[in-house]
Amino acid sequence: MIALYHSHPDATRFTANVLSCRPSAAGDGLWEVILDNTAFYPTGGGQPCDAGTLAGCPVEDVISLGDGAPVMHLVRCAEPLSGAVEGCIDAQRRLDHMQQHSGQHLLSHVLYERFQAYSLGLHIGAADSYVDLVDDGSIHMTRALANELEAEVNAWIARDEAVRCLFPTPQQLAALPLRKAPDAHENLRIVLIGSQEAVACCGTHVKSTGQVQAVRILSWQQSHGNLRVFFVAGLRALAYAKARIDQADQGARLFSCNVCDLSASIERLQAANAALSHELAKARKEVTLLRLTALQPEAAPQGSLYLAALDGAAEPQLKEGVSFLTKRDGRAICFLCAPVEGGYAVALGVGADSPLHAGDALKRILAELDGKGGGRKDSAFGRCARMDLNAVRLVLCAFTAA
Ligand SMILES: [Zn+2]
Repeated sequence: MIALYHSHPDATRFTANVLSCRPSAAGDGLWEVILDNTAFYPTGGGQPCDAGTLAGCPVEDVISLGDGAPVMHLVRCAEPLSGAVEGCIDAQRRLDHMQQHSGQHLLSHVLYERFQAYSLGLHIGAADSYVDLVDDGSIHMTRALANELEAEVNAWIARDEAVRCLFPTPQQLAALPLRKAPDAHENLRIVLIGSQEAVACCGTHVKSTGQVQAVRILSWQQSHGNLRVFFVAGLRALAYAKARIDQADQGARLFSCNVCDLSASIERLQAANAALSHELAKARKEVTLLRLTALQPEAAPQGSLYLAALDGAAEPQLKEGVSFLTKRDGRAICFLCAPVEGGYAVALGVGADSPLHAGDALKRILAELDGKGGGRKDSAFGRCARMDLNAVRLVLCAFTAA
């Protein structure tokens, strides 16, 4: 089988003869088609296969059957294919894979030059890609270092150096500046970029570094002696940059500022927000204490019963409120609640002279109100789905009378 994806990497249309076509063993309605030549790159080396059509029928997967063996196309068609067929490659997908793959070569090369870090493998994903490298601990990745590596790669892209694929003799191979020792020495396909990057590779690549357009390092993970670097290249890198520029422009419009002043504007807003939150908490506390100062207790079997729903308060104010009342009145039994998202926050406090156990009593109350919570002898807190102060009153009176 002639691998046009290697000999003619620009070919997106080709004619081939069907050597065999049989129903897929998986019983999924696909046909396994073998051709005498193909431009469809099979999945391999971390690069997904090409997509496209054979005789107008969608090619859903392309699988290598081994070194020197033909490529199997899994085709969705109503009738088996035979004779001469026309193949059509999804050119946009091919270009995208070539840009990611070639971009990885450049990235791996600059990491090797700087840290002698060997590349272990590539994965081209639907959104981003990553390359795994051996890391002996000498790579301390930071955004600043990523920016430096990116700048080296992008300068190389700007030099637009040729990308060539060779099948060298052993003598020629010995003279090449191989970045990584090849696993085999026969029928080796070497990808040479400029005069410095040389590595054995079976993938598809652009013709010159300029076609990679740009590389952006997105993030990295370091673990177990390996470094995984996530990146985008080519049109993906341009789309990535455009999406973020649009977001930054939108943010700057909202702040009525220049994009370059966006961070400073956000920091000012955060500081103002923190100051307002502090003022709000202070004001809520004052209002709560004023309301509780005016709250008249009800007589209970073993103390003074304070019940109040404090609209507009939050959980910290409930805690402050029960603390205020129980310190003022040693016989106080104080139940406070406030509406919160999904229900009510509740607090129960008892004065030092009350025999009631707040944690036990609140559990009994919350069982009536579809809630959960608990606490200590002097105070307990929780949340519940509904509120019924009369039910709370009855539970507390029954509890204290017991
Ligand atoms: Zn490659």
